[in-house]
Formats: sequence, C-alpha cells, structure tokens
Amino acid sequence: MKYYSTRGAGPVTLDEALTLGIADDGGLFLPEELPAFSPEDFAPGANVRDVAGTLLAPFFTGSTLASELDDILDETFAFPIPVTPLPGGDSSLLELYHGPTAAFKDVGAAFLAASLTRLEGDPANPLCILVATSGDTGGAVAAAFDQRPGMRVVVLFPKGRVSARQEKQLTCWSQNVLSLRVNGAFDDCQALVKAALADEKLGKQYRFSSANSINIGRLLPQATYYAQASLAHFAETGECPGFVIPTGNLGNAFACILARELGLPIGPIVLATNANRTIPDYLETLQWEPRASIETLASAMDVGNPSNMERLRKLLGDASELRERVDVVSVGDAEIEREIARSFAEFGFAICPHTATAAHVWRHMDPAMRNSAHWILVATAHPAKFETIVEPLIDATVPLPNELAEILARPCHSTDIEPSLDGLGAAMRQSFA
Ligand SMILES: *Cc1c(COP(=O)(O)O)cnc(C)c1O
Repeated sequence: MKYYSTRGAGPVTLDEALTLGIADDGGLFLPEELPAFSPEDFAPGANVRDVAGTLLAPFFTGSTLASELDDILDETFAFPIPVTPLPGGDSSLLELYHGPTAAFKDVGAAFLAASLTRLEGDPANPLCILVATSGDTGGAVAAAFDQRPGMRVVVLFPKGRVSARQEKQLTCWSQNVLSLRVNGAFDDCQALVKAALADEKLGKQYRFSSANSINIGRLLPQATYYAQASLAHFAETGECPGFVIPTGNLGNAFACILARELGLPIGPIVLATNANRTIPDYLETLQWEPRASIETLASAMDVGNPSNMERLRKLLGDASELRERVDVVSVGDAEIEREIARSFAEFGFAICPHTATAAHVWRHMDPAMRNSAHWILVATAHPAKFETIVEPLIDATVPLPNELAEILARPCHSTDIEPSLDGLGAAMRQSFA
C-alpha cells in the first residue's frame, strides 16, 4: 500500500508516512486506495483487537511492520473498549476512556508508539516526537512513549487552558518526555509544531516526527473501534448503527467516516462540536473559514482550524458533498452543563463535557432521524478527568479510575515558553543536551 499527500506529494510507504507525520508539501497522508470490506470478512463475535488485525492488514502490505502487526495490536489494545447499552434501549455508549490517560487518544498514541519505536527507535540518535495538545493528546502520547528506548517526546500545551488533572498527565513522565507550557492557545501550540517541523536549523539538530491526529498512525487504529462496534450491532440486528462523535480536530470522526468508506456497516454519522463553529459554518455557508479557537467546557475540542478537514475534503469532497454524508451540530456551554446533569440523572453515571456534546445532540435530534437508527454515542474521556466541571453539576463525586489515581500520585515537571521557535529551541537544548 502506498500513501499520498492530500496536496499531491508521494508516493511514500506506510513506514515513511508514520515517521514523517506530515508530508513534505505540508499535506496529510492518505492511502492511495481504500480496501473494500464487507461484514463477512470479519470473524463472528470478533473483539476489537481481532477486528483490527483484519481491517488494518491491507494498510500494512509492503511495510516492514507487516510481520509485527500482531504484536503492535497486542500493545495497542491492552485495555477494554466496551459498548454499554443506555436506558431506553435505542442507544449505547462507546467507552473509549479505559486507557492509561482515560481518553480515546490512548488508542492512536499506543499504536503510533508501538509502530514508531520499531521503525525508528535509536538510542544514539533518538526520534523526537513533537505534539501540540489541547489537553488529552499530549498526555496520551507521553504515556505511550514514556521510557520507550530511542524515542523522545516534546509536549506543547496551552498554559491555563487544561484542567489540573490533565496538566498532571502532561507533566508526570520520565526523562525522555519534555513538557512545555506555552503562553498561548492550542492553535499557537499547533502552529509552533508545524513551524518546528519545517525549520532547517532545528531539523539539523533533531530527528523530528509528529503525533497529532494528523499522523495517519493515529487514524488507522481509531477506525477499528467503529468497525467492531458496528459489526457487533449489525450481527445482532442486521442494521447499521449511527454514531454521534464529539469533534474538535476531526481525527476521531474522520476515522469513523473512513471505516464507513471501507465498507463497515455504519449508518448516519453526526459530528458534535462545541461553540467552535468552523466545521458547522463550513457545511452551512460552503466557505472554509478557519479562525482562532474560543474556550469552552469541552476544552479538548477547542479547535478553530481543524487540520483533518483537509483530509476529509480529499476523501469525500468539499462542503456541498460533505453535508450530504455527515451532519454537524454545535453545542454551547450551557447545553453541555444541562446535559451532564440530565445524563447523570437518567443514566446513573457521569459523562465528561466532550461526551456531553454528543449526548445533547442525540437527545435533541429530530424524531425521524432519532428513530432511523440505533445510536452509539462516543464517550471520548472519563468524567474524572474533568471533575471540577462535572462534580458541581451532578452534586456527587466521580470515582477515580485506577490509571488516573496512579498518575496523579506522581511528581511533575514542566517548562514555560513563549510560542516561538526560539523558546522551543532553548527548552529543547536545555533538556536534551
Ligand atoms: C481530542 C478530544 C476530542 C476531539 O477529538 P478530535 O479527533 O480532535 O476531533 C474529543 N473529546 C476528547 C475527550 C478529546 O480528548
């Protein structure tokens, strides 16, 4: 399988696409062709690990990792990804938050770490993963690469815009992880990573790669939980479930759309954004107008310039085609708050503010659409990560999962920088001298 940039460069192998992260022409990698699957291609009752083995094999043809795919998947799917029925019977919750940092990004990060360490791990000249994060990505990537030999991670996160527990998860790692608190917004962090990857001077000193949701190695494993959940529902009912997906940079939702394009039994897909309206406005006005992000309660979705839109447009077409294939609904903070309280009352457990955008969209769907499918709401993070928002709304304590408790007990270290290449370079020299 060969991979091409959304802007035309290529072809490259999977190994190169994983290592480069972003194409030389600034575009994002996509496979040159999509393999076609049908439900019969998967073993009945297959778990997500085994679905992944079938689904991802064609993407690994010609890769030096093909013979190691089984081990990579064992390392990736080391935690459960259950689908829990919700009261009422017409919906379920896809729980993506049982990994080491309690958010869905653990899946892509673990897969990328397992792959890249095998491809590029070199203690004499480590590969340096740059990652901009609005909260959850950086923790997941740091956890996945922590102590991996021949690998380093530089995490850039916006100062004061992540929760205290998120900050812990970004800053509690070993010597091979450098955590940088950037005086700016997520978009500044992301722009700085892009600039560093393109900078000649830094490029001479470090071997860089990226691990944002722009890396194809994040998207491929994410497609597998949509595949597994849809196959299980299809086997039981003969029907294609719909998904409602909390969306920021469009990596998780892209993976669902990709899975549907690959032939998995997936029905309607609805994206839930927070008050950052770049995607809904695009589908409404047909004008792509990226902008600065605004802060919301669903902070990991505070993205004003969702990078993966470039990939989605390449895959499905521009707004006029896109809006035939997906719906997008924007959810404000007041609605998120109401939904957290209401879900707790009805479901008997708490959901995080990101998941609440999906629950709100599902609850307020027009009845024809609501009745047209079994809806799987995608739960992207554990509510205990956002306890300062969730607990006052439900007037109860959210029990801490073991993984989080363990991380919260560790010591932390981070460096403050301005959002500039000079600031980044100085911090790296000091830490990795
Ligand atoms: C990152 C994140 C999202 C948004 O996912 P994208 O792939 O950026 O669209 C939603 N919820 C949580 C908890 C996240 O960490």
